[in-house]
Amino acid sequence: MAHFRRLPGPIADVWDWQHHGACKGRDSLQFFHPDGERGSSRGRRESAAKQVCERCPVRSECAAHALTTREPYGVWGGFTENERHQLLQLGWRECADRRGERVDVRRLEARLSEDVSAPAR
Ligand code: SF4
Repeated sequence: MAHFRRLPGPIADVWDWQHHGACKGRDSLQFFHPDGERGSSRGRRESAAKQVCERCPVRSECAAHALTTREPYGVWGGFTENERHQLLQLGWRECADRRGERVDVRRLEARLSEDVSAPAR
């Protein structure tokens, strides 16, 4: 569950990005794992979801939202829940704009790939 205290207030502009997501209208099961999903099935589903995110015009906003609210499940902004957990440990704020509404996803990807403590992805 998201941390509600970290959610932005009810300002339409803050949430407007969600209307422009490349995942809009897609089956949410592509982005959120079903109970008991493991191994290669999970990897294939996450890869497919990340490909959608890769061409999404609001990826930066989506990733910032997921990191700010600590979304525990699913692929958001092209990052799996494990990758976001890793970014929360490594630090991500310096890759965000002043208001924390957008992140530099390429810098975050580089940070993940440089993390030698992480299990192989
Ligand atoms: S980045 Fe991915 S999860 Fe986020 S709005 Fe875009 S397609 Fe959907």
